[in-house]
Amino acid sequence: EKSKLPPKIKPLDVSVINKIAAGEIIVAPANALKELLENSIDAGSTSIDIVVKDGGLKLLQITDNGHGINREDLGILCERFTTSKISSFEDLTKIATYGFRGEALASISHIAHLTVTTRSKESDCAWRATYLDGKLAPVKGGATADPRPVAGRIGTQILVEDLFFNVPSRLRAFRSAGDEYNRIADVVGRYAIHSEGIAFTCKKQGEAHHSLITTAQASTVDRIRTVYGAAIANELVKINVAGDKRLGLVGASGYATNANFNAKKSYQPVLFINHRAVTCDPLKRALSQLYSAFLPKGGHSFTYLSLLIAPDKLDVNVHPTKREVRFLNEDDIIQRVCESVQHALGEVDTSRVFKTQS
Ligand code: ADP
Ligand code: MG
Repeated sequence: EKSKLPPKIKPLDVSVINKIAAGEIIVAPANALKELLENSIDAGSTSIDIVVKDGGLKLLQITDNGHGINREDLGILCERFTTSKISSFEDLTKIATYGFRGEALASISHIAHLTVTTRSKESDCAWRATYLDGKLAPVKGGATADPRPVAGRIGTQILVEDLFFNVPSRLRAFRSAGDEYNRIADVVGRYAIHSEGIAFTCKKQGEAHHSLITTAQASTVDRIRTVYGAAIANELVKINVAGDKRLGLVGASGYATNANFNAKKSYQPVLFINHRAVTCDPLKRALSQLYSAFLPKGGHSFTYLSLLIAPDKLDVNVHPTKREVRFLNEDDIIQRVCESVQHALGEVDTSRVFKTQS
C-alpha cells in the first residue's frame, strides 16, 4: 500500500510565475497585437502600421506616431505593473485609456524577444531598447543593455520576434500561420472601423500588397467598406440609440445592413462597449432573431455598434483576454438597441415602397 503523505508545498520560481502569467494574457499572436494596438491608440496616434510574419509567431511589428516614451522610463517599461495610465484604484472608475494594468509589455517580454524604438517630441533622437524577462537586455553579441540612440521619427515602434519561443507546448498548438494572420487582421479591422481619425495599414512581411489600408480622414462607412467590402457598405442604415439614465445607458450608435443585404455567412457583430472590442452573445442572438423577420431563411446581416454604458454599471477590471462582457440591465439595453435597429430597417422598407410607387 502506497503511503498517502501530503506532497510538500513550495513557492514557484519567479520566472515560472511570470511565464504562467504571460501565457494567460497572451494566448495567441492576436492577443499581443490587440494589446499593442490599444497602447498605440492610448498614445494619441493618428497613424498605425502593422507588419506580420508567419501569423505573428515569427514577427509582429507595430509602428505608431503617438507621444512616444521618455528615455528615462525605458528601464522599467517592461516590469509588471508599471503604467503611466492610473495611479490609484479609484482611477479605474474614470479610466479613459484601454490599458491600465501595465502587464502587456511585461508579459510579451517573458515569451518573446521584444525591441522598443521610441522618440518623444522633446528628444533629438530615438532610443532603442531590447527586453527579456521584464528587464533591459543586450542585443545578441552586444556588451551593454542600455538603450541605444538611433535615428527615428516621433512615436513608437514595437517589434515582437519569436513569440512563444520558450513555450514549446503553446507553439505546437498553432496549426496554420494563415489562420493566425486572419485573427490578427480581424482585430485590426474592428479597431480600424471604430477608430475615427486614425490611419491603419496591415500587411504580411515581404508582400507589397496591404490586406488593410484606411486613411485618417476615412468616414466610418468608408472604413467598413475597406474592411468588409462594398456589398455591405452600400447597404447600411445608421443606428442611433438614445441614452437612458435609469438603465445606465449613455447611448449607442453604429450601422447595420438593411433588408436588401443578405449574406450566406454570418458575421460576428463589430461591437465596442466603452470603446473596447468585445463580444456579447445575448445581443448577437437578439439581432439575428430580429433580422430573421426581414431576411430570407438562413440569411445573415452585418452590424457595427458602439455602446456607451455608465462606467459604474460596467466592470472594466475583467481579465484582459475575456472578450465577453456583462453589464447591468443587459436585457433592457439589448431591447433598446434592437428597437432602434428595427426602426431603422422599417424606414428603409417604407422608402423602397415609395420608390416603386412613384
Ligand atoms: P498599460 O497599457 O496597461 O499601461 P503596457 O504594458 O501595455 O501597460 O504598457 C506600459 C506603459 O508603456 C504604458 O502605460 C505607456 O506609458 C507605455 N507605452 C506602451 N506602448 C506605448 C506606445 N505605443 N506609445 C507610447 N507609450 C507606450
Ligand atoms: Mg497596454
